[in-house]
This record gives sequence, structure tokens and C-alpha cells, in this order.
Amino acid sequence: MDLVAYVGTAPGRGETVLGREFTTVPGGKGANQALAAAKAGAAVHMIGAVGRDEFGEQIRASLAGSGVDTSALRAVDGRSGTAHITVDDDGGNSIIVVPSANATVDGLAPGDEELIAASGSLLLQLEIPFEGVAAAAAAGRRNGVRVVLTPAPAAELPDDVLSNVDLLVPNEHEAEALVGEHDPKRALAALLERVPEVVITLGGRGSLYGSRGGEVVEMPSFPVRAVDTTAAGDTFAGVLSVALGEGAGIREALRRASAAAALSVQRNGASSSMPTRQEIADFLA
Ligand code: ATP
Repeated sequence: MDLVAYVGTAPGRGETVLGREFTTVPGGKGANQALAAAKAGAAVHMIGAVGRDEFGEQIRASLAGSGVDTSALRAVDGRSGTAHITVDDDGGNSIIVVPSANATVDGLAPGDEELIAASGSLLLQLEIPFEGVAAAAAAGRRNGVRVVLTPAPAAELPDDVLSNVDLLVPNEHEAEALVGEHDPKRALAALLERVPEVVITLGGRGSLYGSRGGEVVEMPSFPVRAVDTTAAGDTFAGVLSVALGEGAGIREALRRASAAAALSVQRNGASSSMPTRQEIADFLA
């Protein structure tokens, strides 16, 4: 759950300031990507955990309301994961993430492997422990399911996570954190030594795909007036996974993902800004 306080100037250490407004918004990269995929028309199951608190119920309802199946979303004792976000008048923000229930997802629960095995794509993020990500990726590989990882929040990745990833989708900062290369083309080359396929998202500059087989695709972004880029990356990753899971080629999948992200940046909010399958089709028509 995102807990968002709007303030003129964010407080320094030891300081108290008055905020202007406070909202709570269901968030989290996994949930946002699941929503983006469901809105894009896929049958989506979310594996993860919420706490037995009021946020847990709200998060489950938000996912279910957009058609995400939450039967594999476990409820554990304690709090749901929270992000404490301060947004100041300059649009700058600072964020504290407290994993809480998310920290308990350190492996597969009964039934998870069957769910993964029956899927077209497995889409992973790093807001649960590496052990949980590694176990899911291994299950994906064992069952011949395409494993897509968005390596966020940025982190060094152990090889037991990366060795079972088919497609890595970092933004440029995450790519740099992984391989220490600022230049996207160099980062791409370095990442392809660790995984077979990579898409680096470059914000308003589009995205860059590469495969070990030597294919490179540069996909420009659609020129639109951006008002709020929150969750552009999650929309992109969710829709990319859906398209690939449906058997689209990489160019077509990148095109649909870019269109969905371009639609999302024209609207405020995260889940509320994600387009439906029809909206994506109309935009591309
Ligand atoms: P976020 O953290 O905000 O979710 P991100 O950093 O993970 O985003 P970005 O690289 O900023 O991801 O954006 C993902 C994709 O969204 C881009 O590859 C591009 O296709 C699209 N996009 C982002 N910003 C814009 C923009 N201003 N105009 C059009 N498309 C955009």
C-alpha cells in the first residue's frame, strides 16, 4: 500500500512540517504489473502475500476488481507491505519501503508451481526476498515457462536468480546498477552475457532490445504529452509479457508495450492510468 503525503518541502532530520494532503493507493511493482497485464486482457494470477490488516483486504479487492485472480495471494500475520512516500512541491519524492508481509515470500507455497506451469509467462520483480524470486524462476524454467524479471528495486543479482531468467527488463538506472555501464548499448551487451534476452527501458527515449542471437531492436516511444510517468515501467513490463505470452514477435510486443506505457503517462496515478486492451488497440489502429 502506498501511503502518500504531499508537502511543500520535505522535512530534514529532526524536523516536523505540515503536509497538504494524504492518500493511500494500492501499489507495489508486482501488483501494478499484474493489473497492467489483466487490463491488457490476460488471465493473471498474483502470487505473493499481504498482511491480515485493513491494507491487505484493500489490496486484494483492488486486484480482484481489475480481474486478477488472488487465490495464490496469501494472508500472513502482521502488516501488509507499505511504501511511505513524500511528494514535495517540486514533484521530487522520497520513499521508504517496509516489506512486512512481502518479506515472507521466500519460497513457493503449495499450488504455486502448478499455477506457474500452467502460465504463458512468469513476471517477477524484486520486492520479495531473492530466495522467493529464485524459487519461482526455477519453477518457470523447469516447466518451460518464459521467465521475465524487472530487476527493481535496483540490486546486485545473485546468479541463482539470473540463471533462470529468459528476459530481463531493467530501466536504464537498474541496468547501470547491474553492470556498471551508463551507456545503454554497452549495458545491453554486458547484460546479454548474463541472460539471453534484455529490454532496457529509456523513459521518453523509448526502449532497446537485444538478444544473444544478435538481434537488436530500438523502439522509440510514442510522442505524447506526459503528465505522470508513475508506473510507466510496470505498464510496459505487464503488457510486454502478455504480448509475448500470446505469441507476438518481439517487435510487435515492444510496440504494444510502448503504446500502453504512452497511454499511461498521459493520465495521473498508477493502476488508474493503465489502459485496457481495447484502448491499446485503438491507439495503434
Ligand atoms: P516508472 O519507474 O515510472 O514505472 P521506469 O523507469 O521503470 O518507470 P521508463 O523507462 O521510465 O520506466 O518507461 C518505460 C516505458 O514507458 C518507456 O520505454 C517508454 O516506452 C514509455 N514512456 C516512458 N515515458 C514516456 C513518455 N514521456 N512518453 C512516451 N512514452 C514514455
